[in-house]
Amino acid sequence: MSGDIEKLKELLAAGGSIVFFGGAGVSTESGIPDFRSVDGLYNQKYDYPPETILSHTFFMHKPEEFYKFYRDKMLTPGAEPNAAHKKLAQWEQEGRLLSVVTQNIDGLHQKAGSKTVWELHDSTLRNYCMKCGKSYPKSFIAESEGVPRCTCGGIIKPDVVLYEESLDQQVIEGAVRDIRRADILIVGGTSLAVYPAAGLINYYRGTKLALVNRGKTPYDDYADLVIHRNIGEVFSQI
Ligand code: ZN
Repeated sequence: MSGDIEKLKELLAAGGSIVFFGGAGVSTESGIPDFRSVDGLYNQKYDYPPETILSHTFFMHKPEEFYKFYRDKMLTPGAEPNAAHKKLAQWEQEGRLLSVVTQNIDGLHQKAGSKTVWELHDSTLRNYCMKCGKSYPKSFIAESEGVPRCTCGGIIKPDVVLYEESLDQQVIEGAVRDIRRADILIVGGTSLAVYPAAGLINYYRGTKLALVNRGKTPYDDYADLVIHRNIGEVFSQI
């Protein structure tokens, strides 16, 4: 085992409550494309850039185009939790982990068994009618064609935070509260370049900040431990 992973093990062995803050890199090893990586969604060919398609304005004006892309790229059928998801769920069960804060919308933490998950961008698992509020599961969206409609005729919208939309205040508050309380904060699979990720890390008050990310992040100098590796590679060894 490499020295950096060994150091993370030592940091964890000292005890204390853990909070995990994760980004797209946590899910890439489950086969879910990373929005912002070089070979991620942004480099793929589509009529519009993903950032445009996944915006509130686009959804309201071109829901059919939105759903074409969304069904194709965002629903990721068959994706399964990887070593990181499973380890985090195990830690929570053992009482070592307060919560997971995630930028991902795939629901894989819950699928792995995690209970307290602050989903900053919400989730593809939840969908609702814009007219009457009725909820629909992910499978309904996956199996529908064109623009999915409620029994009342209203358009169904995924409960994911699109560009131009604001984050859920309760989710932010929950994440901030846990990050403040954490003894150990592990940040994984995120370059910390995107709002609100970097801002949330600032609430951490402890002395055990571990960053696990393939590339460099603006927080590398502040962290107590930096591991430039894939998250799955690290979590399968701790
Ligand atoms: Zn309805």
